[in-house]
Amino acid sequence: MISRVPLFDVEAIRRDFPILGKGVIYLDNAASSLTPEQVVLKEMEFYREYRANVERGIHKLSQMASDEYEKAHKTVAEFIGAPKRENLALVKNTTEGINIVAHSLGWERGDRIVTTVVEHHSNFITWLRVANRHGCDVRVVRSDSEGIIDLAEFEKAIDDETRLVAVTHVSNVLGCILPIKEIASIAHDHGALMLVDGAQGVPHIKTDVMDSGVDFLAFSGHKMLGPTGSGGLYISEEELYRTEPLCIGGGTISDVSIDGYELAEPPLRFEAGTPAIAQVIGLGEACRYLERLGMDAVESWDARLAKRLVEGLQEIDGIKVYGPSDPNKRVGIVSFTVGDMNPHDVALSLDAEHDIAVRSGHHCALPLMKELFGLPEGTVRASTYIYNTPEEIERLLGAVEDIARG
Ligand code: PMP
Repeated sequence: MISRVPLFDVEAIRRDFPILGKGVIYLDNAASSLTPEQVVLKEMEFYREYRANVERGIHKLSQMASDEYEKAHKTVAEFIGAPKRENLALVKNTTEGINIVAHSLGWERGDRIVTTVVEHHSNFITWLRVANRHGCDVRVVRSDSEGIIDLAEFEKAIDDETRLVAVTHVSNVLGCILPIKEIASIAHDHGALMLVDGAQGVPHIKTDVMDSGVDFLAFSGHKMLGPTGSGGLYISEEELYRTEPLCIGGGTISDVSIDGYELAEPPLRFEAGTPAIAQVIGLGEACRYLERLGMDAVESWDARLAKRLVEGLQEIDGIKVYGPSDPNKRVGIVSFTVGDMNPHDVALSLDAEHDIAVRSGHHCALPLMKELFGLPEGTVRASTYIYNTPEEIERLLGAVEDIARG
């Protein structure tokens, strides 16, 4: 399965990313991906050709900016399988999307939120704050030592008091994939809502919110070839009018009088003030780029790189690899430690001596680091994307072996 990578011309892809010509091996994609020229040019097009505010002006420039903004909005909505543009609120990142949901649900004392130990802080402390403020209860589902969580654990944790189940699609530390469709079904059986943190899932795995049946999906543009400051929150049809905007003001109303106001129809009610126009237009172009490659091909390429990365690291003496041993259960996000070396020293050496960019530390997942691995200093994390090559993985493996030998 892994050798079948249809029409994936990685050398052609690499030509779209001039930054790769500078000699660096970029394996920090889980933190932020690189951006292809097509996206950069599309953002520049806005500044050069129709730099004006959206939704407000009669003049031609504002009309052009509005058209491009709305086109991008529709493209991004289609990319995640949303039925309509209205179901996608454009936000600045995953964190903002999750916080909108946290602020919007009318919490009552005793409401339960079920989340997991593998979450990023954005999908964890948000719920601890809700619990502190509203007297809710947060139940944390634990994983096995590979980060895999059996569905039975969700069956046990989710009950009729559960108001929201908030889980990540893919762990940003272990790369493991959670069965969100099945978890959503358990949540719905108990009348609970399902929120998915799609920060790592949307870039790596074909996403279809209708198929998975989730109520909310938050994701970030900057991890999927798009600009920083762009992202989305999908809101299901049922929750669309129940979800309260986090901010209101200009652009979010249909009428205002001295005594009150009426919110505009979605998605406008969620996009207060002047939006990140160039970034959204750029995100639309990023989605088109990934669509042209095909998310099936993106997944296969990712699986091929991840398999070699995990196997290669496991063969090196003194390296401990975290996450699923079964390559089918993970994407190209691989955490490891080198003996008892501090992960920051390993990352520093990879950068300084080998020109390889990886991430080190707790990856904003301290509960996972402390609870599961007893590693408050964290791990080294190498994460791949569409432009990484098998040769780059071999270079990383060679460099890690050098460091491990001392
Ligand atoms: N969730 C996960 C799983 C992530 O990996 C990240 C980013 N590292 C976030 C949430 C937060 O994303 P952002 O900083 O773009 O809001």
